Amino acid sequence: AESTQTPVVEESVATADGREIEVAANLGTPVEAEPAVDRGADGVGLFRTEFLFQDRSAAPDEDEQYDAYHEVCETFAAGLTGEEPRIVVRTLDVGGDKPIDYLDLDPEENGFLGARGIRLSLEEHADLFETQLRALLRVAATDAGAGLAVMFPLVSTVEELEAALEQVEQVADDLESEGVEYAIPELGVMVETPASTYLADAFAERVDFLSIGTNDLTQYIQSAQRDLDRMTDYQDPLAPAVVRAIDRTVTAGHAGGAWVGMCGEMAGDPELTELLVGLGLDELSMSAVTIPDVKTAIQEVDTEAADALAESVLAADTLAEVQDCL
Ligand code: PEP
Ligand code: MG
Repeated sequence: AESTQTPVVEESVATADGREIEVAANLGTPVEAEPAVDRGADGVGLFRTEFLFQDRSAAPDEDEQYDAYHEVCETFAAGLTGEEPRIVVRTLDVGGDKPIDYLDLDPEENGFLGARGIRLSLEEHADLFETQLRALLRVAATDAGAGLAVMFPLVSTVEELEAALEQVEQVADDLESEGVEYAIPELGVMVETPASTYLADAFAERVDFLSIGTNDLTQYIQSAQRDLDRMTDYQDPLAPAVVRAIDRTVTAGHAGGAWVGMCGEMAGDPELTELLVGLGLDELSMSAVTIPDVKTAIQEVDTEAADALAESVLAADTLAEVQDCL
């Protein structure tokens, strides 16, 4: 499709002293891809696939999913020059705050602590997981899908990650024996539970990348439900415990050989860009509207000053002290 806006596509940006940071878009539907390209997204850091499953009476089949994922890859491949853009697709992340009628999820008193994210994909909805992986591995084999990456939500144990990776292998074997073209994409894990921050090194040894979901990570680190107005005082990702969890994740992820991104809301706040660069993030993924401001903020960062800022923030014991540093 022809873009109606003048594209403001800038090639990848770097800090004032030359450290490249990838700035990607969070997408909720394929139609958001083109405006994201126009806003200068280097790729997609989080494609939430829930939209395909919501507001209907049955799950989408493999071909429908293939079309949706392929469309996003094509839009980016057509809109960007240079290297194959990376398109990170997250496997179905429902349960908790994201119910789906036809899945018959058991009502849980504490949905956020129950069957959601990868837990559902590995247990009662393994069929949906398999279908989604088949569609994704097929897209990865196409020209436009060369930069496809797949990410698993709400992983909190190495056992879960290994089960998910085994499922990828199984699907690849099936496609192979059916003679269907496929490729194994880059694979990653969302770090959005306290457990995952402690296991980030073990995850990083098993996958290509980690992406920090600060929306859920803040909820779980602070033990305060993400959609409760009464809990807003706890929901600030600048809370010292959350910042320390992010720092721990980036360090452990890099030690394990993975790149580390962030796709929670925090990543899209240009006032926090210097801190996030100082904490060592390689990629920031956000709602497309904030991309131009974050790209500008990155270009103004001096990494030595950013490192010093991160060090002072990590030494702060209260939210007020963190805010003073900024
Ligand atoms: C997050 O938890 O930070 C995240 C990016 O995922 P979602 O908001 O979709 O749960
Ligand atoms: Mg989340």
